[in-house]
Amino acid sequence: MPHTLADQLEDALPQTQCTKCGYPACRPYAEAIAGGEANYNQCPPGGEEGVKRLASILGKPVIALDTSHGMERERPVALIEEAYCIGCTLCIQACPVDAIIGAPKQMHTIISDLCTGCDLCVAPCPVDCISMVSVTPGKTGWAAWNENQADQARAQFHFRQQRLLREKQENDDRLAAKAAEKLVALEAEPALNAEEIASKERKKAIIAAAIERARLQKLQASRDHQAEEKPE
Ligand code: SF4
Ligand code: SF4
Ligand code: SF4
Repeated sequence: MPHTLADQLEDALPQTQCTKCGYPACRPYAEAIAGGEANYNQCPPGGEEGVKRLASILGKPVIALDTSHGMERERPVALIEEAYCIGCTLCIQACPVDAIIGAPKQMHTIISDLCTGCDLCVAPCPVDCISMVSVTPGKTGWAAWNENQADQARAQFHFRQQRLLREKQENDDRLAAKAAEKLVALEAEPALNAEEIASKERKKAIIAAAIERARLQKLQASRDHQAEEKPE
């Protein structure tokens, strides 16, 4: 498979998926650097060593980390003070790598080995019971993180993306099946005069349009997915 510049840059990123670079995940940041839209010093988890790695791939000089995106720091993991957790699941929804387990109205727990220290679960917690705790005293950036951890984080992130896509498709399919049933039921309804016939036709047209919209959205989602799976 061809290895594009964006692929090489992505491989050099820490994969915490923290969004601190200003992009929704590591891959879009890699693409933005490759496309000349972003500078190569915007990733705090990679720190100075990360900038060096990106500079080397790009054949550009090493520059200072842009700390407006965050400081290089010891790597933390999230810790939930379980006594205060109300089981709202907002942290699970925010976690890009499925490192939090718990069910609605039950206390939640972090799987420390999967936590990338991205901070994304902290802000949504309505009772402020998540804190970030350093697990690499004295070590920052790539000195506190390694390629195996980055690979695991990337795999977890992709796994989650697939799961979300699958869940959305299942939900869309359920709604489409319901709409189709509604159309059949409407068809069977008697229409006794011109007004009722016109009303029935209007409803049928609305439902048919909704079914067609859902079909086109599904087709587009499937094309987008195929394009993601097959980088040029
Ligand atoms: S680790 Fe965070 S800041 Fe670095 S590229 Fe990935 S998402 Fe962006
Ligand atoms: S548990 Fe929190 S800090 Fe850890 S990866 Fe998930 S969202 Fe990020
Ligand atoms: S966001 Fe906070 S309160 Fe809600 S489940 Fe997570 S830790 Fe518990």
